[in-house]
Amino acid sequence: MLYRLKTDFRLSIITLLGISAILGISPFAVMRFVQGNMVAGIIDLTIMLAITAGMIYAWVTGDTARTGFAMAVVASGGAVAVGAVVGEPGLFWLFPCLVTSFFLTESRYAIFINLAAVVALIVHGVAFSSTVQMWSFAATAIVVSCCAFVFAHRNENQRERLEHLATVDPLTGVKNRRSMDEELAMAAASAARTGISYALVLLDIDHFKKVNDEYGHSVGDEVLTEMVALIERNVRKSDQLFRFGGEEFVLLMSGVDQTGLRAVMHNLQHIMHKFLKHPGGQVTASFGVALLNIGEDPDTWLARADAALYEAKASGRDQIVYAEDAVALESPAETA
Ligand code: GH3
Ligand code: MG
Ligand code: MG
Repeated sequence: MLYRLKTDFRLSIITLLGISAILGISPFAVMRFVQGNMVAGIIDLTIMLAITAGMIYAWVTGDTARTGFAMAVVASGGAVAVGAVVGEPGLFWLFPCLVTSFFLTESRYAIFINLAAVVALIVHGVAFSSTVQMWSFAATAIVVSCCAFVFAHRNENQRERLEHLATVDPLTGVKNRRSMDEELAMAAASAARTGISYALVLLDIDHFKKVNDEYGHSVGDEVLTEMVALIERNVRKSDQLFRFGGEEFVLLMSGVDQTGLRAVMHNLQHIMHKFLKHPGGQVTASFGVALLNIGEDPDTWLARADAALYEAKASGRDQIVYAEDAVALESPAETA
């Protein structure tokens, strides 16, 4: 639970708003009923229940995008309703709503919600004791919204940059192993749900150490980036390439059958033969290919592709081996 609060910023804002609603609004709801102001009491109670329900929904479903938007609307709309019914108190409640709306939903929606709330209160007009107070309210509401927009925008930018750093390989620009684990799990889940077929190709450059040793590390780096560009140009947009580590890559393909897969692999190998060079000649690679079996977990799937790759290396390199055709060979771990 704490982990989700730490890692999901929007969920933490939703929770903060939920708890604040319960603790902050309930005394007012009780007070309104005691004072006999039934309309205000019912408004307070409705806001409190709606925000609490939203908080529970977000925790159960994880759908913080929709919940965040709904909560921003309910909170600001609620503050406007309080302003319209009991006057000034609604104005004070609107300020925290103006700030949180930028953290609950996308900026463009938050700007619209905030503007709508401020305009609604001004047009209704009853909440203000004077024109000066009304325009002071409008000016401060706009300043608060602008500040919240800047903070939220910066926060979002930094989150995106961090996510990029954590998931993308800096040399080749393809996703790293961490993203691959997530995508393989998603592919396995999608296959189980929809029956779409998935194939996984584990690719390892042959004798790459020699390229580094003979021509230097920067030439090795160039080979890696060129190979990535070549593969990306020759697979479908929906196929995903990941750097598994060092000079090993994983290609995840969807919607391919046994025949299509063999054609794609044959073409890829042909293109690499033709275009992938280092200063001393051709760069070749070995491939281990595995189609996802029904109900198979990602680790077993990857292990089958790895065993096929091992066989491709063992039988002379520059080969494509399909897990379905692979003969059982001892893995390096077993021979060690
Ligand atoms: P094999 O055919 O058995 O795969 O032989 P290999 O030489 O390709 O395999 P090995 O695993 O022994 O060597 C992999 C090399 O890849 C060693 C390492 O220096 C190099 N390497 C790993 N990451 C990078 C990188 O980012 N840039 C460069 N230039 N080289 C890298
Ligand atoms: Mg290797
Ligand atoms: Mg290698």
